[in-house]
Amino acid sequence: VTELEIQICSACGVGLFPDRLRCPRCGNLQLHREPAGPGRVEEATRLHRTAVQHPSPIRIASVRLQAGPVVVARLDDGIGPGTDVRLELTPGGAVWARAHI
Ligand SMILES: [Zn+2]
Repeated sequence: VTELEIQICSACGVGLFPDRLRCPRCGNLQLHREPAGPGRVEEATRLHRTAVQHPSPIRIASVRLQAGPVVVARLDDGIGPGTDVRLELTPGGAVWARAHI
């Protein structure tokens, strides 16, 4: 399992997602990467798509990381707003919110 990584400003410590060239808070150019860490589902919605590879609706969540940024991720059935999750990056590049036990 690969955890999603986000950028952390080396000067002020704010978490950034998606990647930036400089820190929007303090303007620092030195950013490093760290695992995204724990977050919580804020909203969940269902996308109805007709694409062949998604024959059933897929669920999308906005996840507020403890590090600060909000990340949009795929969501398993049975998980809703308020659930503590971690963000997993699949080999195909999709971000999934997994219930954090
Ligand atoms: Zn900064």
